[in-house]
Amino acid sequence: MTTLTLHNTRTRKKEAFVPIDPQNVRMYVCGPTVYDRAHLGNARPVIIFDVLYRLLRHVYGADHVTYVRNFTDVDDKINAEAQRRKEAGAPGTLEDLIRERSDETISWYLQDMKEVGTLEPNKMPRATEYIGQMIAMIETLIGQGHAYAAEGHVLFAVDSWKESYGALSGRTVDDMIAGARVEVAPYKRNPMDFVLWKPSDDDLPGWDSPWGAGRPGWHIECSAMARELLGETFDIHGGGNDLMFPHHENEIAQSCCANGTDVMANVWMHNEMLQVEGKKMSKSLGNFFTVRDLLDQGVPGEVIRFVMLSTHYRKPMDWTEKKRQEAEKTLREWYTVIDEDRDKLAGSISGTNPPFSVVDALAGDLNTHSALTEMYRLAKDAKGSFESKVQLAEGLWFLGFDYTSKWWTSFGYSLDKALNDPVDLTAYEGAMAVARTEAMTTKNFEAVDALKTMLVSAGVEVRMSKDKVELETTPDFDPSKLEPLK
Ligand code: AMP
Ligand code: ZN
Repeated sequence: MTTLTLHNTRTRKKEAFVPIDPQNVRMYVCGPTVYDRAHLGNARPVIIFDVLYRLLRHVYGADHVTYVRNFTDVDDKINAEAQRRKEAGAPGTLEDLIRERSDETISWYLQDMKEVGTLEPNKMPRATEYIGQMIAMIETLIGQGHAYAAEGHVLFAVDSWKESYGALSGRTVDDMIAGARVEVAPYKRNPMDFVLWKPSDDDLPGWDSPWGAGRPGWHIECSAMARELLGETFDIHGGGNDLMFPHHENEIAQSCCANGTDVMANVWMHNEMLQVEGKKMSKSLGNFFTVRDLLDQGVPGEVIRFVMLSTHYRKPMDWTEKKRQEAEKTLREWYTVIDEDRDKLAGSISGTNPPFSVVDALAGDLNTHSALTEMYRLAKDAKGSFESKVQLAEGLWFLGFDYTSKWWTSFGYSLDKALNDPVDLTAYEGAMAVARTEAMTTKNFEAVDALKTMLVSAGVEVRMSKDKVELETTPDFDPSKLEPLK
């Protein structure tokens, strides 16, 4: 059996992964707060942990992995949007409108994440469906002296667990207090004490609890859902490294104290952040966009996936237009190579037999960058070897690329995109490749010839070899001459 090595934030080491129960490998990943569309950065952990999920399924068997990713549907921004709709005259109670907002955001999220090639986790709990478990956990913590109620709030007392609190992110409670610049609520015994339960405003919905009507804090949601669905201690806990402190630190404190365990999850994995063209994504810099924005611009989900996999998850990753173009070109080339033997391949692909070299790369702390390097090598060999072509197809399937999806052969898509960005010739290359493939079958070369003539007259040099079409602008390039393609 393949042995996986994973970097564990908890021990700061790469370690051989030994599941608690190989018959049921359990992983929890913190999911989104469902107030709006997922931005591109949010897709990074989803894609990374999807690759890990696929790898675990491959190694331990598809029926022996449980992957849980929650939805946080208790949030001020969800409430604010519901309230805005109510004020604008939308029918239904505020509770209905809150549910409606979460429902629509969840359905967008699932659709967007499907388009970037991710499998749905086995369980996707919503926080609002586990309030009872959260209240029970908070009561346990109070009973143990790890939490206290004050002015309608319940707080976790970090001093009650001072020796261990901060171990994940490598800080001590005293350092944290020294570094904290937040205004401290008067009812807190220690400035680092964090909220387990808080009162609801009168005009907002809440849940009855021993501490009055209110709602849970964010951290307790994950502790309660993870325990309910995966048990007191499980194998892997993941998320972006912005969650390491305070969210994951607080999850650990709550779970270990309430459950009486030394560890919540054996392995903690954190992905680095995504930037855009070298800068932090932010609305003020105008470089903030959602996954849906890209999909709507005609960037295929698989291209987003490819770019994400080209950087190792523990390195900061930069989304650039150049990477987008290169990813699209590469996928198009690989898919074209496979398509040449489509029928023959159909009988040779199992979908469960990925190339050893690709699995091996992923087994080394999920090195997706090396896995893609292996794929480039296979693609090169695939031009002369059917066996390598089978491996290429199996590798694509395993990494979550559906080469049968045909976005890349869609003539309309390519031309639409090219017309929006006339200097980006990748789309015209795709269009030419498709027209040529079709012409080979139909023996009618009219369309491909017409396209070629148009490109040449616009000052584009067209080079066609057996396996690819390459276009390059000449000094005479005049994008306006591509207008008739409209
Ligand atoms: P949120 O909805 O903000 O709690 O984020 C959901 C997930 O997306 C968490 O795992 C975050 O760590 C992750 N995330 C948020 N922003 C980025 C980013 N720029 N790059 C990578 N991951 C991110
Ligand atoms: Zn969480």
